[in-house]
Amino acid sequence: MALSSTPARPDAPTAPPARAPRRPRGEGQWAVGHREPLNPNERMKKDDNPLNVRARIENIYAHRGFASIDPQDLRGRFRWWGLYTQRREGIDGGRTAVLEPHELEDEFFMLRVRVDGGELTLEQLRVVADISREFARDTADITDRQNIQYHWIRIEDMPEIWRRLEAVGLQTTEACGDCPRVVLGSPVAGVARDEVLDPTPAIDEIVQRYVGDKSYSNLPRKFKTSISWLVDTPYEANDIAFLGVDHPDHGPGFDLWVGGGLSTNPMLAKRLGVWVPLAEVPDVWAGVVGIFRDYGYRRLRSRARLKFLVADWGVERFREVLEKEYLGRALLDGPAPELPDRPIDHIGVHQQRDGRNFVGAAPVVGRVSGAQLAQLADVVEAHGSDRVRLTPYQKLLVLDVAPERTDSLVTALRGIGLEARPSAWRRGTMACTGIEYCKLAIVETKARGEELVARLEERLRDFDADISIHLNGCPNACARTQVADIGLKGQLVVGPDGRQVEGFQVHLGGGLGMAQGQTAGFGRKLRGLKTTADELPGYVERLARRYLAGRTTGE
Ligand code: SF4
Repeated sequence: MALSSTPARPDAPTAPPARAPRRPRGEGQWAVGHREPLNPNERMKKDDNPLNVRARIENIYAHRGFASIDPQDLRGRFRWWGLYTQRREGIDGGRTAVLEPHELEDEFFMLRVRVDGGELTLEQLRVVADISREFARDTADITDRQNIQYHWIRIEDMPEIWRRLEAVGLQTTEACGDCPRVVLGSPVAGVARDEVLDPTPAIDEIVQRYVGDKSYSNLPRKFKTSISWLVDTPYEANDIAFLGVDHPDHGPGFDLWVGGGLSTNPMLAKRLGVWVPLAEVPDVWAGVVGIFRDYGYRRLRSRARLKFLVADWGVERFREVLEKEYLGRALLDGPAPELPDRPIDHIGVHQQRDGRNFVGAAPVVGRVSGAQLAQLADVVEAHGSDRVRLTPYQKLLVLDVAPERTDSLVTALRGIGLEARPSAWRRGTMACTGIEYCKLAIVETKARGEELVARLEERLRDFDADISIHLNGCPNACARTQVADIGLKGQLVVGPDGRQVEGFQVHLGGGLGMAQGQTAGFGRKLRGLKTTADELPGYVERLARRYLAGRTTGE
């Protein structure tokens, strides 16, 4: 008898009705036909290209004031011009996640000025300082992406600020937003004795050709670039990085890395194994940005960075798509670059290849002021230089100093709070914006960082090892939590009286810019390794003393 004719028992479970197989939801990739926005951010970008908001700021908002600003522009498109609303004073970290955006923000802006390659002339430095004093309540932070960041900016002042910046060749275009952000470069490009090929022409061409170009202004998320001959930028933490390498047959050029990024799913960039000559860097850069624009994931913001696509595809497929669909030719295989034992920060006095010196000096956690930058401009000019560079470690350099004027410059810098012979603590400590201004922050960072450096300088002045301490106000890792000797991720922790207080999750033993097998890679996040913010100086001091007591010869 056929099974199908067997009568069903009345109490037998009935099979659920057959469903059509579920179609995979897709990741919102344009190249496979997902052109309809899958989230509000994508909708905002599709409704109107964010670069168009500049005209509305100049023609409408700057005249009618903060209250006139469309919320889609305010919290979305403004970022493409370097503008974020800043955190309202007095809102603690416990309320960051529960308040509505308009409750968290005040009527002032954070404004980021992109300084591609970190290069500033004396004239530009003076304009940056003047804007700080006139429009930003004397604020000016050096960020770990070689930008200048102001606070307390009013929308009414933006047309005049742009006029002054652009008159000296600076811009805020695409300083934030889902677009190509500032290009990191070696702070000693063009002057370093051990640099073989100066990549500055490639940086200049990329900025000139593509920044502000609407074909590249709607990317799935931000896109970070580093181009340097020397290993003096955190290149592995970028979406794309070109690092100097000598090809045995073709000479000096660049090794290409893609898919790095930190934040909550940190990944280090991977080598594609290709050698790119200087003249081809801009085209190859545009090809990689094109892949990101067309194939990048746009469904979830949390998966929209290039690193997720690279992780899913693998480097072989990524290279093949780049060559076939975007460049129309094969790239040359290339050797891996030599990596140093330790990252290079250029602090101190160093000889340039022309016999003059450059001097690297440290503010504390990147915090400077307009007044200090104006003093710096005077000091630099008085010592015969007209070039300053910002570093991706929140420090600055003065170039082209005659040997006989170098000691005088070091003394003059010290006199304005910039130390060319800093303690290990001051040299290695960075802090993100934190709760003072950042709407996403959970804890204070800049003031904590300054307090930490002061305490350690007092208690362990002669600490003689390189150490990096990165304070971050939330999991977003803007100050690179995972790649410091001591990485600190801001969060609420339980204090001594059982109540929640500001504190940090500790990551230990990370590092970048070094040969694999040294300490390059992510620090370990040890379960339960947390400290309250108040206990942080004591915690780091104990850690340092334990290290000094237990280190081996040469460590
Ligand atoms: Fe703001 Fe968090 Fe970034 Fe710090 S790490 S600047 S708190 S988003």
